[in-house]
Amino acid sequence: MSETNPCDFAAALDRTASASDRGRAPRLDDLETLLDGPDGPAETDEALFAAARAIRDATSGERMFLRGLVEFSSYCGNTCFYCGLNRANRNAARYRLTADEIFSSAQAVRDAGIRTIVLQSGEDGMDARWLADVVSGIKARFPEVAITLSVGERSRADYSLWREAGADRYLMRVETSDPVLYASIHAGRELATRLRCLDDLRDLGYQVGSGIMVGFPGQTLAHIARDVAFFRERDFDMIGIGPFIPHPDTVFRNARAGSVGLTLRTVAVTRIVTRSAYLPATTALGSMDRDYRVDGLRAGANVVMPNFTPALHKKDYEIYPGKRCVTERTGACAGCMAGLARMADLELDYARADTLKGTETRGPVRTRPFDEKTKVRDESLD
Ligand code: SF4
Repeated sequence: MSETNPCDFAAALDRTASASDRGRAPRLDDLETLLDGPDGPAETDEALFAAARAIRDATSGERMFLRGLVEFSSYCGNTCFYCGLNRANRNAARYRLTADEIFSSAQAVRDAGIRTIVLQSGEDGMDARWLADVVSGIKARFPEVAITLSVGERSRADYSLWREAGADRYLMRVETSDPVLYASIHAGRELATRLRCLDDLRDLGYQVGSGIMVGFPGQTLAHIARDVAFFRERDFDMIGIGPFIPHPDTVFRNARAGSVGLTLRTVAVTRIVTRSAYLPATTALGSMDRDYRVDGLRAGANVVMPNFTPALHKKDYEIYPGKRCVTERTGACAGCMAGLARMADLELDYARADTLKGTETRGPVRTRPFDEKTKVRDESLD
């Protein structure tokens, strides 16, 4: 990938921001121009990130929202080529929390003041009724919390059961919106099935999130540009974007890790195009040669997900190696959140933070360089 000509970049940014202001689809060639650049920072990054921050600040405020993550099962029947939990990996440590252990983790999330609990697992074939009881058990104890599920592809009947039990949101990343590329990294799986699941979830009233990995084998800038357009078409409430990190016990063990620079540019372009979607500064971004989550927030992200998986099991939920903070005690990450928000010049927000889709106003958003930001909101920007 090469450095973009500054004039081409400025024109592409202008057209993309203008299309976003008017609720129109971006040009794919413009998205590719904005995404192009070196592995590290590009000269044009600051203009791109400033445009993304301006849209984030206008749609969700200068805020960093928190979601408490509980990884409750590392069993998985799937064979994604990039994931350390794939069923073929005999070296993976498998665990499944009991309902009581999940309730204790939920208590820890609430004790930290957080009002969203994300229950995540591999596709472990769990009994749907059991998970429904866990969801309703959390809701009975903490009626004020939002519950997000992230347990993969299931039947519409299961999604319906969990929704009735009180689940509010569902996360299911596609990793790529290209059917051929999708088939090349998911043995025996089809993108169409995943899209059917996402349709069912939306239809059942969930707030729906998806996302992609950046930099895995076979992926090009054109793929990522189409992914960003796909996010807009589907109008997702939440979108997770993280770099690919090769795991030694997977098919992709010898592949190069995804580029931090490209991941940050993908976050920024996604913010500009999707406007009010919640975008996490992903744990994967925090698990590279250094923690790039503040950089993710400076590129337009507005969510961080501190880990509340019991300390005994944290290191076993190893989708990729080198995951940050796996040796910390349960909930310790929550203490770092204020520092992250401060470094990104954002205010820490403990609200449930339900979807902002449908609430936003459109129109040009003035771009402010990061260093010149003030806490005083210019009303003319609304
Ligand atoms: S990405 Fe999810 S579904 Fe795929 S192998 Fe890993 S845990 Fe299983």
